[in-house]
Formats: sequence, C-alpha cells, structure tokens
Amino acid sequence: MTLDSIQRINGTLHIENCNLIQIAQQVDTPCYVYSRNGIRQRWQAFDAAFAQQPHLVCYAVKTNSNLAVLQTLAQLGAGFDIVSGGELARVLSAGGNAANVVFSGVGKTTNEMRFALQSGIKCFNIESEAELYRLEKIAAEEATPATISIRVNPDVDPKTHAYISTGLKENKFGVSFDKAFELYRYAAASAHLVVHGIDCHIGSQLLDLSPIQEAAKRVVAFQQKLAAEGIYLQHIDMGGGLGINYQDSDSAPSPAEYVTAIVQAIAQPDMEILVEPGRAIVGNNGVLITKVEYLKENEGKHFAVVDAAMNDLIRPSLYGAWQNICEVQETDDEKQLFDIVGPVCETGDFLGKQRLLAVQEGDYLAVLSAGAYGFVMSSNYNTRPRAAEVMVDDTTIHIVRQRETLDDLMRAEQLI
Ligand SMILES: *Cc1c(COP(=O)(O)O)cnc(C)c1O
Repeated sequence: MTLDSIQRINGTLHIENCNLIQIAQQVDTPCYVYSRNGIRQRWQAFDAAFAQQPHLVCYAVKTNSNLAVLQTLAQLGAGFDIVSGGELARVLSAGGNAANVVFSGVGKTTNEMRFALQSGIKCFNIESEAELYRLEKIAAEEATPATISIRVNPDVDPKTHAYISTGLKENKFGVSFDKAFELYRYAAASAHLVVHGIDCHIGSQLLDLSPIQEAAKRVVAFQQKLAAEGIYLQHIDMGGGLGINYQDSDSAPSPAEYVTAIVQAIAQPDMEILVEPGRAIVGNNGVLITKVEYLKENEGKHFAVVDAAMNDLIRPSLYGAWQNICEVQETDDEKQLFDIVGPVCETGDFLGKQRLLAVQEGDYLAVLSAGAYGFVMSSNYNTRPRAAEVMVDDTTIHIVRQRETLDDLMRAEQLI
C-alpha cells in the first residue's frame, strides 16, 4: 500500500484510526479524506533532515490549499510557497506567518504584488525582467523595499512528465543564468529592491536525485560568479518536486535522502536553504472515496460507473496519471477487470482503466494518492458540486470543507 497513513483493519480501509466506510456514510460521496498526522510527519521529515543547516521548508500551497491543511502546517512553523494573492490570503487565514512566505509564479499582478509587499512576505521569486521592473515600481510607491530572488532556469532534464517539467530552456519558467546576472546587477543597485536569494524549480514527481543535485551545482557556480561582482546571496531555494510512490514499483527517495542530496551538493553549512515540497507532503496522505452507482458491460468490456468524475480528480484525464484504486471493504468475491468511469459527458472521464476489482453497485472505492493536485484542481463541470473534504486526526473526524450546494454554484449568476 503506497499511502503512508492508511491501513486495513478486518478488511476495511482506515485512515489513521477512522473507518472509511463510516466517513463515506456520514459525509456522503465523493469525498476527500486526509491524514493530519501523516501530513505532519512528512513536513517534519523534511525539516529534521536539515539538522544544523539554516533552512525553511516552504509547503507549496497550490498542491492542497484547504485551510485545515495550511493550519496544520502553520502550527509546526512551516514556510509556504504561494503562486497567487488568493493563496496568500489562505495562508494568513490559516494562521501562517507572512515572514515565512515566498511568492513564485510567472504572472504576478500589480494587486497581488502590493498585497504581498504590504503583508511583509519573506521573498518574491522573480521570473522575468518585466516582473522585476514592475515590482521595483510598486516598492517605490509603497516606500517598502521588496526582497527578491531571481528564479533561474538551470536547464537540466528532470526526467519526468513533459507537462510537469519546468527547468528546461524551452519552458516558460525562470530566466537563463546570463539574464539573471544582468537582473542581479540591476537589483543590487536599486534603492527599492533587496537581493536576498536565488531560486529554481526543475519539475515535479522527481524520482531520481541526480537532476536536482546537478541543478544545485549549477546554482552554486552562478552564486560564485555573483560573489565576484560583490553580490552576496543569503539563501538558495531549490524549489519542490520530490516525487511519491503511486505504485508499489515506484521508488521515490525519502525526504531525508532528498534533503541530504541538496545539502551535499550546495556544501555551504551557513547558507540558508529553502525547499518547496508539495506533493511529497500531502500526496500519499489523502484518498478520494467514491461510490459505485452502476455496473455495465459493453462488448465484453466491464465498466464501474462511480459518483466521482474528472471534475473531482483530473490527473488521470489530464496527464494520463495512474493512481491506485481499491475496494474500501475487501471481500473474497472473484475479481474482474473494470474501467472506473465517472458520469461526466466526456470519453476522457475516467479514474482508472483495466483495474482488477470485486465490486457491486453501492460499494465504495478509494482512489489512493489523491492528497496532492486533487481537490485543488476540481471544477464544477456538468454543474457538479465540489466534493466534501475531511481531515482525520487519530480517531477524530473533522469535516474541513462542506460539500458544495447547488445554491453555492448559482450564487454569482443572474437572470436578465
Ligand atoms: C508546483 C511547485 C512546487 C511544488 O511542486 P511539487 O512537485 O508538488 O513538490 C514548488 N515550487 C514551485 C515554484 C512550483 O511551481
């Protein structure tokens, strides 16, 4: 089983010490269920691995931005990596400290920059020349110097899916080392900008540590070039991207192995190192529970039509991602190959294909590894209310987001 905090007790799936059938009956389906202690443990594994090295583990909010998830991490003293003003508002609502927030993303708007500057965030991760000039202007207007790092594009191949690989020359993210050099010289001379760090993020679902080590070495070589110009950096942010095991055959490095690889490649015991893990903290600490509505057969092919769809979990449709699907209640019934499909009117609406399962109408299925890029990517396509979210803490069930109602969906609309 790839999930950190899941176990079977008498054949029934549990997250921590809560029975998933009971949760499904209590809150209805589809619903996401997260493990609070599992999330804590994964963040702490990153944090502890740095030992004496100055560091900050900034959880990537876009991965799962439920307020209770953010609150759980804020209580541990986590930093946060945000990509919008909305995510900053969530972090602050959840009790996060603005001074531990770094702001990434290629399209920060004027209003978002102003909000972040007024909130006193730790650092703006600058992704282009135009963005640097815009931030300088806003900082001058606000009479508040902006602390920056430049996101460089180290041009290493992360060996992951094309849609989630971000550190190659042809991607839209970051700038080249040559461009970054110019921008650092400009920023260092500006009265409104404070050069603090450098950052990169080479991609997601990394299962091999050599690309991140190679990126770190290139960043350090560049740091020395800056130092020769009299520009000294206070932190190095290596971004996120550590992968997780979606299948038993995957072999994702542990957070400790990942951190150690980065610390060794940077090899500066006094340098503050930042990482921005998302998937590796929440991915295997969440499941999506869905109910089988109908079984049907077409031309010898078996389908289980379930009440969760691509609007609830888009990774299988969008990236062809494979997530394990299993019965919530194990039985001795004979298994068959099923395509697990949702009710949305798209052929691409599936959660999994050719899965060996024993299911009947009314049974519950669990889609594993659904804590990351699950609920946050959900939509209301087909006027489907978004799922409820539940967080389990040992034996306690917290409903951390109510299921949407049809009134919620139509609230902002008007007849003419
Ligand atoms: C998406 C993203 C992350 C988190 O990536 P994971 O693969 O979920 O760890 C971190 N930093 C930046 C800049 C990102 O865009």
